[in-house]
Amino acid sequence: MGLLQQKLSKYTVPQKIKEQGLYPFFRAIESEQDTQVVINGRKVLMFGSNCYLGLANHPKVIEAAREATRKFGTGCAGSPFLNGTLTIHKDLEARLADFVGKQEAILYSTGFGVNLGAISTLTGREDYVILDELNHASIIEGRRLCASKDFKYKHNDMVSLEKALKKCDPDKVKLIVTDAVFSMEGDTAPLREVVALANKYNADVYVDEAHSLGVFGKNGQGLCNSTGVTDDVALVMGTFSKSFASIGGFVATDHDTANYLRHVSRAHIFSASLTPGATAAVGAALDIMLAEPERIEHLWALTNYALKGFREIGCEIGHTCTPIIPLYIRDDMKTFQVVHELFEEGLFVNPVISPAVASDSTLIRFSFMATHKFEQIDYAVEKIEKVFKKYNII
Ligand code: PMP
Repeated sequence: MGLLQQKLSKYTVPQKIKEQGLYPFFRAIESEQDTQVVINGRKVLMFGSNCYLGLANHPKVIEAAREATRKFGTGCAGSPFLNGTLTIHKDLEARLADFVGKQEAILYSTGFGVNLGAISTLTGREDYVILDELNHASIIEGRRLCASKDFKYKHNDMVSLEKALKKCDPDKVKLIVTDAVFSMEGDTAPLREVVALANKYNADVYVDEAHSLGVFGKNGQGLCNSTGVTDDVALVMGTFSKSFASIGGFVATDHDTANYLRHVSRAHIFSASLTPGATAAVGAALDIMLAEPERIEHLWALTNYALKGFREIGCEIGHTCTPIIPLYIRDDMKTFQVVHELFEEGLFVNPVISPAVASDSTLIRFSFMATHKFEQIDYAVEKIEKVFKKYNII
């Protein structure tokens, strides 16, 4: 056994869970990804997807991907910087910039790559990156790759943010980075207050709109747009893996910052471009978002219905106000057991356990799509009540 294998063989974390038949990860779906999916030959209701508008099976989105694949081929054998830029990439960048209200947008191959590639590049050794402590892992990794000094502030706590800003050299760049909607907790950042502090201390703001595009604002233009702070935010990033029913991501900003990122951000320059199919799917999803705001309205009707249902049965759901609903269990093992039993009852939900969250904050992440029906939520709430009562969670 080589040293590497010797070392890694000591990593036995999932073993106990596997032995008990409770391992809930990498469950392979054998069907189309809609509100009902098939896993191991069993139909279960999907309440773990980020496909908020349910567009992954939309005929127009599929057709757009097919068309682009026929015309441009299956992949781009090169990065955007060299041979990997297609006309559909340029068109999509222009549309996205317009959609979120910025001068330019830059495509990356994943949303993770956007945060990694942009945050790591924007600031220098003498500058500061200031992060909400619950920001997404990709933001944390992006920050780790840069030489700048960093501060974390307490989640959504503006006193803590101001304290961090006061510690910075007023003449250096201070980049505040926050999720718009926090991906595990489902709560929103107080963007107006963040921007007010940024203006007071001459800082710049970067907002991750992964879970808010397609969700907030009449046509899904995001939380910056719906709270009226777009012009006060330097950079807005989004992913295509959620409401846009595809894969990839973008960052939108002013011409100068975009020019810098296009020529310096290594995750953009040294990674192959989005496939034609994925690119065209995003464009088609964007068409639908603009043409059918009723999808977003329905998503919100479902959200409010589910929030009420979970509150009525006594679930602890934190401060969420979005289609991401955390159901707190606060115990790793119980979380595995509950996820397993809910699966037996016909529900697919995601466990969020340590180290993704602190071990006293473990939860089930319940999320849904605009294609869900109220009856499906009723069924889920009923089963969750049954299983949570059995485990003395409510
Ligand atoms: N930011 C946030 C807030 C996310 O939740 C995610 C993915 N879950 C990402 C960025 C990364 O996006 P992607 O999965 O599309 O790479």
